[in-house]
Amino acid sequence: MTEAEIIRQIKTKGFKITSQRRAIIEALLVPDRPPTAQDVLEIVRDKYPYVSLDTVYRNINLLAEIGCVIKINLKNNEKSRFEILKHHHHHHLICLGCGEAVCLEKCLLDKHMDVLKDQGYKIVGHAFEIYGYCPSCCDTAE
Ligand SMILES: [Zn+2]
Ligand SMILES: [Zn+2]
Ligand SMILES: [Zn+2]
Repeated sequence: MTEAEIIRQIKTKGFKITSQRRAIIEALLVPDRPPTAQDVLEIVRDKYPYVSLDTVYRNINLLAEIGCVIKINLKNNEKSRFEILKHHHHHHLICLGCGEAVCLEKCLLDKHMDVLKDQGYKIVGHAFEIYGYCPSCCDTAE
């Protein structure tokens, strides 16, 4: 999604565009790999020195709720990373060595979701991550 598409989505869902919110969206689009909330905060603070981590979290969570951002749950105590949704809903392989998040082609859970829906469950979302080591980290992972 581009910044303009995200802003359109926010408006469609009935939320306001503030300059701070816009700065947070821009910050999410800057790094090469999905940033943590802390990364976003540091970028936003260049322009808005008084923004709090709490504000960043609230805005990112809102973006996740309306489907503009994917939350990548990392193992260990590492902070979650957030990725602007580029094409479609998908999941990640997280490298435990370097922290790289590799985007997987497509979601394989649709089938399970259909089964659950048929059984009368209302599904509101799901999270799914694969943990491992990327090829270049494999050597060091014993
Ligand atoms: Zn790696
Ligand atoms: Zn991805
Ligand atoms: Zn999925």
